[in-house]
Amino acid sequence: MSGHELRWNPLLDCWIIVAGHRKGRPWHSTFCPFCPGGSETQGEWRVLALPNRYPALSLNPPKVDEGCEPFIKSEALGVCEVVVETPVHEGDFQDIPLEQVSEYILLLGERTRDIASNPAIEYVMPFKNKGVLIGVSLTHPHSQIYAFTFIPPRIVREIESVIRYRRDYGRNLFEDIVEAEIRESKRIVYVNDEFILLLPFYAMWPYEMHIYPLRDVKLLYELDRYSALLLADTIRVATGVYEELFGSEYAYMMIFHQAPIKQVNKDYRLHVEFYTPHLSRDRLKYAAGVEWGAWVFTYDGVPEDRVGELREAARRIAGRLGSLGRIP
Ligand SMILES: [Zn+2]
Ligand SMILES: [Zn+2]
Repeated sequence: MSGHELRWNPLLDCWIIVAGHRKGRPWHSTFCPFCPGGSETQGEWRVLALPNRYPALSLNPPKVDEGCEPFIKSEALGVCEVVVETPVHEGDFQDIPLEQVSEYILLLGERTRDIASNPAIEYVMPFKNKGVLIGVSLTHPHSQIYAFTFIPPRIVREIESVIRYRRDYGRNLFEDIVEAEIRESKRIVYVNDEFILLLPFYAMWPYEMHIYPLRDVKLLYELDRYSALLLADTIRVATGVYEELFGSEYAYMMIFHQAPIKQVNKDYRLHVEFYTPHLSRDRLKYAAGVEWGAWVFTYDGVPEDRVGELREAARRIAGRLGSLGRIP
């Protein structure tokens, strides 16, 4: 058995990627596969997209017998890529020049457009996992792109909410969230001409942050050079804030939520979500009994009280980074 397939969870209505072939991944090798000059990283580059050598999803997956109810399977069709953010082996976005981070954003857009040209692909999701604390031992700054033949459940939920909000209130939910955050000004960490970074009213993690656009943009490839620069500027503040608060061993996940490729909804907006398990430098929050078992999160504290720490950290680093926006 190859053990490489999608399995349907009929109780939770979602696909599980079964990737038996990934067990032998050489995660703890001393040789860095992303430093320039390796077999995959030759030539001149500042940011680089590569096929994932151990893909959970691929365009040529093994054939799978579909099974029958209640145990349905499907082939693990999709795309997994790696995006190397810089030739420099250590660091994070705040250590990479702004122009280069904006090239990274533009590359994510190009890859989205290219991957989405395959008619089987419904959704493209760039993301980054950072930090040994969440299992990332490869320290060379890199992100990943997963592309699915289905719309992931979390995105389905967001789209359903946006549609319901339009039906019930006649307005765009994303616009209303941003307007209310600006009006209240209680949870904003940083804002520039096109993007706002905030600790959401509805945060699940203690130091969760979201980036929302101030205008209509749905997909990464709609960003022009200036908008990509401003998104890069906002991301550098966000990750810089985490390093400032949690020290060199900090960990986070950064997820780009963009619109589905084919199902266009006029109200959906591109946004970026950062989740970090840190409660402090050395204390972590786990998605434990109630969080994972019920999907009901407890926010330890109050977001409005915690945002001060994030703003202070942003103030300390914004000057150093030459940031283009302001901290309220
Ligand atoms: Zn390296
Ligand atoms: Zn989202």
